[in-house]
Amino acid sequence: MARIVMSSDGATRPTGISRPVDELGRIVLPVELRRSLDIKEGDRMSIYTAGNSIVLEKATPRCAVCGIEKYELHQLGNCHICTVCAKRIAVMTEGVWT
Ligand SMILES: [Zn+2]
Repeated sequence: MARIVMSSDGATRPTGISRPVDELGRIVLPVELRRSLDIKEGDRMSIYTAGNSIVLEKATPRCAVCGIEKYELHQLGNCHICTVCAKRIAVMTEGVWT
């Protein structure tokens, strides 16, 4: 049987809550869990598997190139890029578009 686990700190806790999966594969995250984990409408969730479990984690923006999250990130379309990688790309592509 598959379990669904929500985690913000890596710990798993039984919630005693079950929800049906609809015809498109969606489930509603219980409001009490959304509040306690500070998940708001529009937030992105990362989805992982662990054995027979699905792990949902509030996504933290990371650089699409190097994966780091601690430097200043700039939104680029649907992804983020850090200042270091943006500068590297600018140097690599200097003169390419002229
Ligand atoms: Zn980067």
